[in-house]
This record gives sequence, structure tokens and C-alpha cells, in this order.
Amino acid sequence: MRIHHLNCGSHCPVGGFMFDGTSNGPLAHICTHCLLVETPDCLVLVDTGYGLKDVRRNTGRRLPFIWPLILNTRLREQDTAIHQIKAMGFSARDVRHIVLTHLDFDHAGGLADFPDATVHVMSGERQAAENARGFIARQRYRPAMWKDVKQWRMYETGGETWFGLQSVRDLDGLPPEILMAPLPGHTVGHAGVAIRSADRWLLNAGDSFMHVGQLDPTRPNCPAGIELYQAIMSTNRNARLDNLERLRELKRDHGSDVSIFASHDGVQLAAMRSAAP
Ligand SMILES: [Zn+2]
Repeated sequence: MRIHHLNCGSHCPVGGFMFDGTSNGPLAHICTHCLLVETPDCLVLVDTGYGLKDVRRNTGRRLPFIWPLILNTRLREQDTAIHQIKAMGFSARDVRHIVLTHLDFDHAGGLADFPDATVHVMSGERQAAENARGFIARQRYRPAMWKDVKQWRMYETGGETWFGLQSVRDLDGLPPEILMAPLPGHTVGHAGVAIRSADRWLLNAGDSFMHVGQLDPTRPNCPAGIELYQAIMSTNRNARLDNLERLRELKRDHGSDVSIFASHDGVQLAAMRSAAP
């Protein structure tokens, strides 16, 4: 299966290296790393990033008010998954499945661009999103983004152990090379998505960590701005830190079998793009 690494949303918050650990100037550069997988039968999108309706701002209730301001979100049509997929010669209908790490606005905005796709998500995530209570939850979950989804496939926890992660399972209608690995903490039903390509696995860990330094087995590190953002957005601190430790162990013990990346780490995105065949 061929895997394409897409950036489907850029954020440039004031704070530079305090947010991304690398920028020299006043603005940080934070990507939204989504995957497009070519299976023998169809295309599978893992997270959507922002969509055309977000870029065109044609409905007022899609994006939250606060976070795009703080994150200095740059909405460009060429960054949307649908634009990039069409530029490769495919159509929206070729995307028959979308697997979501979670339903935050920066991961689910493009759902409306693929109305025929089946959307796979943990059931706890969908429930939390549909029953959002409180300021943070209502800002992060935007029902207008998924109101037109026709087909959902939702999953309870329960499955097998996979490289030390619990309850990892395959997905209805998808090949066994694509797996869902629950990684709650950032949100209630947050999950990673693992894809086997050639002789290695790739694990999209979503927002379970946000900077590559957090997985350093000897000296874990994270820019202060990102650390604060994670603390604010976390729904279960203990679960988040516990899963971070599992990911650190996975990288330490199985780093030659599994490459792990975070949705918003631009250094990892650049490295994986340059390493992709
Ligand atoms: Zn995110």
C-alpha cells in the first residue's frame, strides 16, 4: 500500500520555538499531518485536517472562535485534502473510508468534502463530541463538521495487544494492514491509526503527543507552549501521560518495526515525506 503524507492545515502561533522547538522567528510552524493510503480497492484518508468549507468560511458555526486566533490558523484551499487528492488525479469518490484519530476541529473539518466515505472512529469519541459540555468541549467539537456524514463505523475498546498497546483492532471493510489503537487522554475516544507498508508499520498517534522530543527515551522534552496547550486540551491527564509512556516504550523497544508520528510535528512530517518512496 502506498502512503502519502499530507499537510492539511497550517498554524503559525506567536511564540516561535516555544511552540515548535525549531523556529527562529516570532511565529511557530505547526502542521496537520494526515495520511492518504492507496489500498488495492480504494483510497483511505486518516484524519482530514481542514476542509473547503472552513477555508471559504461559508458557514459561521464550523470553526471555533478562540483556537484559530491563538493558533493563527492559515486556511488555504491548496492545503485541503480534497485539493491535494484531486491534484494527484483522484476524485472525492475514490476516498471510500476515513479513519479519524479524534473529532477535534483541526482533524475533522474535511469530512464534508467526502460525503460518500464511511467514517471510522471510537464510539466514545463520537459520544463525547455529540454531548459536548463546557467551554473547551464546545470549542473543540463542531457538529457542523460531521452533520452530513452518512455512514459511521464506531468501535468499543477491546482488541489485541500490539507492540505493548492495548485493545488494538482491525476495522470493518478495511484491510488488516490498517488498525485502530485507542490512545485516550487528549480526548475521551482519541486513538492512533497504524498502517503497515512494505516491511514496517507507521503509527499516526494523532495528538497523543505533539513534539518528537516527547518520545525521547532518555531525555523526554517538549516546548513550553505545546506543553501548555496539551494540558489545557487534555480530558484525562493520567491517561494521556500513561499513553505517552507506552509510546515512548514502543519507540525504544520496537523503533525498527514501527515509526510513530504526531499530527502537529512539522519536523516529522518533513522527514517522512523525504523518506517516502
Ligand atoms: Zn490537533
